[in-house]
This record gives sequence, structure tokens and C-alpha cells, in this order.
Amino acid sequence: MRSVERVGVIGSGLMGTGIAEACARAGLDVRVVTTTTGSTRTARQRLTDLVDRQVRKGQLTEDQRERVVDSVTYTCDLDGMADRDLVVEAIVERESAKVELFAKLDKSVTRDDAILATNTSSIPIVRLACATERPGRVVGVHFFNPVSAMPLVELVGSLLTDADVLDQTERFVTDTLGKQAIRCRDRAGFVVNALLIPYLLSAIRMLESGYATAQEIDRAMTLGCAHPMGPLSLADLIGLDTTAAIASALYDEFKEPLYSPPPLLLRMVEARLLGRKSGMGFHDYR
Ligand code: NAD
Repeated sequence: MRSVERVGVIGSGLMGTGIAEACARAGLDVRVVTTTTGSTRTARQRLTDLVDRQVRKGQLTEDQRERVVDSVTYTCDLDGMADRDLVVEAIVERESAKVELFAKLDKSVTRDDAILATNTSSIPIVRLACATERPGRVVGVHFFNPVSAMPLVELVGSLLTDADVLDQTERFVTDTLGKQAIRCRDRAGFVVNALLIPYLLSAIRMLESGYATAQEIDRAMTLGCAHPMGPLSLADLIGLDTTAAIASALYDEFKEPLYSPPPLLLRMVEARLLGRKSGMGFHDYR
């Protein structure tokens, strides 16, 4: 079976940038698709900023930095995915946008034997698979943020994913990228977010009802439970829009109140207070 050498990444936000960097670092030829021409410049800058930070922290040498930057090309045209062995979708967590994208990728863009992977946090893989005529080649590969620091990838096959596609994707994630994989069923939130999101939402409800300040809630969990960061800082890191979208998908799937996004979270998203990426969330990053 053909090994994965040419990777496409669609979306150049937090996760798309991190996934592109991880693939380039593993020596793969990476092409990133962004939404508009202007955004290819922003995408290149984001990757450059990411690798520069890694050099400053001593995680990457100057030579490696050059190699990573040179291995990634950018386009705003989906046709750039035509020669890719595997494409990872990492666009906004909105089902309609992802369904539309998978249909396009399948029909006119990618090779028939390409693997179409999604980094969705909560949308059932089978819904994206059914937007294509090759549901057997659609798979979930759920990376964690920041990609370079987090070893886990959740590997999610739908009821229609071919066993050899799952095996090939697992080899790509573990042998090529050096990550650790767990296999999960195709349920909203998979394993990590199904456990994590109710915890983050509880912290937001706690803040909303005035138990303690955001700083106190975060300090409680870092000092009292030795978590590397508190729940509100973590929600800010994930992005409050993404956190709300994952919570809504979990609520739609299970109808459990613990997954229901609290009004404070929804109001903050409407106000575009999205956490670190917008400079302001539960904490101030400006
Ligand atoms: P983000 O908001 O940082 O980036 C999303 C990017 O997608 C933006 O650059 C946007 O311009 C682009 N985009 C939107 N619609 C597009 C389209 N139709 N075609 C091409 N690009 C498009 O979001 P993110 O945090 O990178 O999340 C991306 C995906 O990764 C989501 O599915 C999310 O659930 C998942 N995810 C996020 C995290 C996290 O911690 N943020 C962790 C794991 C998985």
C-alpha cells in the first residue's frame, strides 16, 4: 500500500498551522489550503511565528526551521490537493462547512485512493463520509493543541471506514509523525472532549454564578489538582467559539444538560471574546 508522503492541510488557524508544522517536521511535503489569496500570506506568517517560537525555546535548530518552512507551500485553490496522498481538514467546527468541503474534495479534486481525514472535535465522522462517494476512505484524526507538544491523536473510524484505511492512517500518525494514537468510536467528542468539555462548562457555570473569580478558579485547579493550566485558561486556549461548538455538538448527540453551553459562553462568543486568538476571553492576553 502506498505510504503517505504528500499531505494536504485545509485551514490555517490554530490547528491547521500546528498539523502542517508536525507533518513538515516529519519530512513530508505539505501543502496548505487557505480561504483567500491574502490569507496565504497570513498562513505562512503563522507557521513562521510558530517555528520561530520553537527555535527560541530550543525545540528546533535553525537548520530544522529552514527545512520546515521550505517543506510547506500555500494555495487558496482546492485543486492544490490533487496530488496529495492524505488530506487533513482543519477548518472551522461547523458541520455545513465541512460537509460542503468533503463533497468538493471527493468529486473533483483529490485522487480516488487519497485518504480524506478530518480534525473535527465533535462532528460524527460518518456525516462527512456520507458527503462523499468514498465513505470507506474518510477517517477522523483528532490532534490536540498545541500539536507540537501534545502526543495524542484520537483515531476515529466511522461505521463505513475501511479497516486498511484506519491501519494506514494509524501508521502515518505513529510511525511518521511520532504521535501516540488511541482508537475511538464515532461518537461526538470521542474520548477526550466527552470528558473534558463538561469540566470546562462547569467552571464557566461556576464563574457565572459568582462562586469565585476566573483567576481563583484557575488557581484552584493548578494548585489543588496539579493541572498544568486551569479550566478557564484552557477554554481560552482552545478558543471559546470552538469550545461552544463542541459543547453544542455533544448536547445535540446526547441531550445531557452537562453538555449544554452556558449563556455566559454563548454571549462571549457573540461578543467575539474568543480567548487567546482574539486577545480577550476569561483572561486578558493583550
Ligand atoms: P481556528 O478558528 O483557529 O481556524 C479555523 C480556520 O479555518 C480559519 O483560519 C478559517 O479562516 C478557516 N476556514 C473556515 N472556513 C474555511 C473553508 N471553508 N475553507 C478553508 N478554510 C476555512 O480553529 P481551530 O482551533 O484551528 O479548529 C479547526 C478544527 O480543529 C475544528 O474542527 C476544531 O474543532 C478542531 N480542533 C480544535 C482544537 C483546539 O484546541 N482549538 C483541538 C483539536 C481539534
